[in-house]
Amino acid sequence: MNREPRFYTDSEGRTCITMAESDRIEDQLCDFCSARSHPFKAYKCKDFTTKYNGHPVTNSLGDWLACADCAELIDADQREGLFQRASKLADQRSGALDEVLRMTAIRAIHGQFFENKL
Ligand SMILES: [Zn+2]
Repeated sequence: MNREPRFYTDSEGRTCITMAESDRIEDQLCDFCSARSHPFKAYKCKDFTTKYNGHPVTNSLGDWLACADCAELIDADQREGLFQRASKLADQRSGALDEVLRMTAIRAIHGQFFENKL
């Protein structure tokens, strides 16, 4: 099963991330930087919710997939390098989130990933 992370805003204005499931290999993206460079490495991760001002804003369900470049950074525990890589590539994606919120969200989600990685 292939998955693709997507940010969206729910009906109450909360920013959410979901891993859209797809069986099409061309839909599969790295969960960290959205690269399409296969193969991916899977990281087992507990489900988690990130909060902002005490309110849940993002939900992560299931495992995360990483491209080779991101996997190298994760395995070396180079979190800042991973954040910089994801931030740079996030700039190239269209998004409803403003830059500060997007950067804050990426940092929070990555932090929670490392806390919940199995
Ligand atoms: Zn990646």
